Amino acid sequence: MKIYYNSKIAKATTFLADFVTIMLFGAVFTEVKELSEKTKYHEASHVEQYQTLFGAGLALAVGIMFTCFAFDHYGWWMLALLAIPIFLYYVWYLVEYTVRIFLYKKGKTWKEAHDKAYHEIVFEREAYALEDEYRKPCTERKFASSFSFLKYY
Ligand SMILES: [Zn+2]
Repeated sequence: MKIYYNSKIAKATTFLADFVTIMLFGAVFTEVKELSEKTKYHEASHVEQYQTLFGAGLALAVGIMFTCFAFDHYGWWMLALLAIPIFLYYVWYLVEYTVRIFLYKKGKTWKEAHDKAYHEIVFEREAYALEDEYRKPCTERKFASSFSFLKYY
């Protein structure tokens, strides 16, 4: 897992929230110069989730590409299909967050609704569930793998 410490990218992308670390496109960026094992395990789950959805998005893009070829619809616009694997994880994350924040808003402040929505996003549920695995003996540790995040719905 690639981690960038003292990262300006982390500063630029986390200014809205009280986070200092972010997983972007399979790598981890943090404002600080050291990460705890707990945070590394948390981010490692996000990297695995990202890679899984990148693979799924790529398969989908290739499927669409061949369908288009089959129907004689092709051109440079097809390069835009690459956006599917690259952004699928973030689209899923944002859609789930948006649905949840409105779901939880009733009778709550936006801050409370945000906190709950964030923690309930399936990707965060898995990352929080597995971030303490480093405390266990090596052979007993559980890791995110493939679509394992779906178990947290
Ligand atoms: Zn997280």
